[in-house]
This record gives sequence, C-alpha cells and structure tokens, in this order.
Amino acid sequence: MNFNRVLLLKKGNSDHKGKYVIYWMQQSQRVHYNHALEYAIQIANQNDLPVLVYFGLSANYPEANRRHYQFMLEGLKEVFAILRNFKISYVLKLASPEVGILPYLDQTHCLVMDQGYLRHQRQWRDDVVKYAKTNLEHLSIFCVDTDLIVPVLIASQKAEYGAYTLRPKIRRLVNEFRDFTRLSVLKNQNQVEISSDDDLSDMNHTLKRLNLDHEDMPQIPYQGGYLEASKLCLLFITYKSSRYLESNDPSHDDTSKLSMYLHFGQISALEIYERVTLALERQQMDGAVYDAFVEQLVVRRELAFNYVYYQEGYDQFETMTEPWAYMTMKIHHLDFKPYIYSLEQIEMSKTHDPYFNAAMKEMYLTGFMHSYMRMYWAKKIIEWTMSFKDAYETIKYLNNKYFIDGRDANSYAGIAWCFGKHDRAWTERSIFGKLRYMNDKGLERKFDIRKYSAKIETMGN
Ligand SMILES: Cc1cc2nc3c(=O)[nH]c(=O)nc-3n(C[C@H](O)[C@H](O)[C@H](O)COP(=O)(O)OP(=O)(O)OC[C@H]3O[C@@H](n4cnc5c(N)ncnc54)[C@H](O)[C@@H]3O)c2cc1C
Repeated sequence: MNFNRVLLLKKGNSDHKGKYVIYWMQQSQRVHYNHALEYAIQIANQNDLPVLVYFGLSANYPEANRRHYQFMLEGLKEVFAILRNFKISYVLKLASPEVGILPYLDQTHCLVMDQGYLRHQRQWRDDVVKYAKTNLEHLSIFCVDTDLIVPVLIASQKAEYGAYTLRPKIRRLVNEFRDFTRLSVLKNQNQVEISSDDDLSDMNHTLKRLNLDHEDMPQIPYQGGYLEASKLCLLFITYKSSRYLESNDPSHDDTSKLSMYLHFGQISALEIYERVTLALERQQMDGAVYDAFVEQLVVRRELAFNYVYYQEGYDQFETMTEPWAYMTMKIHHLDFKPYIYSLEQIEMSKTHDPYFNAAMKEMYLTGFMHSYMRMYWAKKIIEWTMSFKDAYETIKYLNNKYFIDGRDANSYAGIAWCFGKHDRAWTERSIFGKLRYMNDKGLERKFDIRKYSAKIETMGN
C-alpha cells in the first residue's frame, strides 16, 4: 500500500496500548480494496490487538431517503457478513456517525478513518479530531484516502480548471497508486464485546427505526452491495465493453452502471481499474475502449472530487461555476422563454418533450438515468425554468432525490458542468448565452432516441 494515502491527523501517546484499533467506516463501505481497513489491520497486527469496525447510521443524512438507505443497507449487510467470516468485530450504531463513535474512543489504541470529500463528511471527521484534541490525549488519528485511485490531496493542491489540466497529473501518478494486493490477515481475532444497534437481517425493521419520510417512491430494479457491483463489472468487461464507444446512445444499455456502487463505496475505483487493465492485457478489451472508460472512471471522476474538495461553494448557485458563465447568465437572464414548467410538471414528466419525459420517468422509476440523457435533462430544465438559479435548485433537488448515485461529488460536478464548469464558452444564443445548448433534433440525428422513449414507456406499467 502506498502510504501517501495516509494522513496523520493527530499524534497521540504511543505508550497507550488500548483494547483495539478502530476503523471508522463511512465513505468506503466495503472490505475488498479498502486501504483504510488494511491500514487498521496493519497497526493492530503490530500491537497484537483486534480491530473494531464502526459504522454510524444517521437517520438525518442530508437529502437521503428510503431508496438510498435501502441500497446502502443491502451493501452493509454483505460487509458485516464478510467481516464475521474474517473474524473482525464490527458495530453499527443508529446515531450521527461523529457522535456515535465517541464512547468507543477511550479504549482504542488508535483511530483510522476513511476520507470524506463533501462538506458535511469532512465536518464529521473534523469534529471527531477536534474532540480528541481536547479530550483524548492518548489517541492517534489517521485518515486514509481509499475511494480515489490517486488521492485527492496528491493529484492536485488546487481546484483544476478542467479535465485537460488534471489529466496529465493523474496519468503521471496513477501507477504509483496501483497499490492493493490483498487484505492482510488479522492476527488477533479476539472478538470485541460491544452490542451492535441493529440486526440487518430484518431490513424493514431497520428502515422503520430510521423514521424516514414516507414518500411514495417506486421500488428500484437495482440491488446494493459488492457482489452485485462485482457482477456488473464482469458483465461490462465481458459483454458491454465492446460497444462502449457507442455507449452515448441512450437506446443502448452499454455503460457499466457502476456509479451507484462507487457512490456508496461498495466497490473501489481501483479494483475496477485493475480489472479492466487485466482485460486489456489479456486482449479481452480493445485499447480505445479501455482509454475511453478510464477517462471516465479516473480522469472525470477524480476531477469531480477535486471540484468538491477545493471549490468551497460547490453546491451553491452563486459559487459553483466560472466568472464567464455568470457573466453570460446575467446578460441572458431576462430572455423570452417559450415554455415555463413548474417543479411539479417537471417531476411528473408533464412537458411537451417526449424525450425529456422519458428521461425523467427513467430516473423516477429506476433511480438511474443514462449519462447523455442526464445532460439533456438538465439543459432542458435550464431552458424551461424562470431563472438560472431556480433551474440549478430544481436540478440539484431532483438529482439528489431520485438518483441512487445522487449526493455524490459527481452530482455536483455534473450539474455545475451544465452551467459551464469544466466546459468552455460556446457560440452565443438566446436563453443559454454562451452555455452549451442541447436540443431534441440533436438526439434524433445522433441516436435511435424513439427506441429509448419506447423502452422507458413500457416500464412501470
Ligand atoms: C446533470 C448531470 C448529473 C449527474 N449526476 C450524477 C450523480 O448524481 N452521480 C454520479 O455518480 N454521476 C452523475 N453524473 C455523471 C455521469 O452521468 C454518471 O456518473 C454516469 O452516467 C454513470 O453511469 P455509468 O456508471 O454507467 O458510467 P460509465 O460510462 O460506465 O463510467 C464508469 C464510471 O466513470 C465515472 N463517470 C462516468 N461519466 C462521468 C462523468 N461525466 N463525470 C464524472 N465521472 C463519470 C462514474 O464513476 C462511472 O460509474 C451526472 C452528469 C450530469 C451531466
């Protein structure tokens, strides 16, 4: 493992042995390719201690609903089963993560946490470090970046302007961070006796205890967890990848659909990278396909994490994009708009545009939407909403409500891209100014878009 993934956040008293090493799992909800868990095991082995994996399940996670919780708990159920097999103790607490962990810190030798990237995730970790600095002199705290291939702090130390500025940095570093072979065996397998707050064998019971808002939302056709993610990865390599270069076409289903698993950390980007690289080496994957996929998985994805990490107001209309984009929006904010739709009309797929309606329906019914349609969908909301700010709020609200992969670094970067971030200025036109424009004629020209609409039409009937 490349130790440049690890940050020492607080140095404690090394004489304090404690009863166990805690790994606070939050971002990286997996056992495979989890450098933070690996680091906790390494420290535990050096000190002949067991490991305790802690997970805090907050009922008030920002913008999360039953759809997100169910997918996440399906994954956690698998994680706990694997930990049991590996004789690693774990505890799940129904509490805000940064609060639920505090009672366990007195007796711990050291705390290892995985890296969070969004504001509230970083705040949780900061709160624990702050608490430890005043109350727990003995405690050392480490943070491990395991959800990115090249850690966010190493890839770049500033907000990058676009993929073209980040790409060479990532390319230079990527091989240094192909650093996972296998999880070390934990030597001290004594079980830490701590009562866990919940039994995930009864998912409905856990969901009920979370007291979530009871909004009627259709059951999604995707199942959470590493096993499902791993199967999708294999399916992509074996069958879909040969058509990946044409995967922009929404009428085909040729992308990996791994974004929702990546979002919850149920599979690691590094594992996917290693698997596609092996396929390339064995000539099971074409070089051009490999390059195109790696561009998305590594460059575009890591650009999104760079964005939320360094751009403080990544989720606020006023601070999420570039000066040229604000300038052009200011010039065009009073342009005449032939169609204006309310949030309800948009959410209920009640617009004049059958392709938009199909995309919205796909999102509502399945929790996913084809990548090209995400761009089209967001651009249409900009076109049909009273102001750019209202459009931004509507897109963000629907994105994070319905997508299983919503509330991700990619969500904020993807939405901001529609408002010019990481893009360039285009030829001036009404309503959009210099922001990139997309229209239904483009969809019809490039793809069999009617086939896409027809496919969605049959869903949920
Ligand atoms: C308006 C808008 C909103 C978006 N909202 C989200 C969101 O909420 N969550 C989310 O994960 N992605 C979002 N994206 C990015 C992208 O559309 C999805 O990541 C992609 O559709 C996921 O499908 P896939 O896993 O089959 O992709 P594949 O083509 O199989 O790509 C593999 C992986 O590469 C990464 N990737 C692919 N496309 C992009 C991209 N454009 N930018 C950054 N990384 C990418 C993802 O991690 C993806 O899983 C959004 C894009 C736009 C334009």
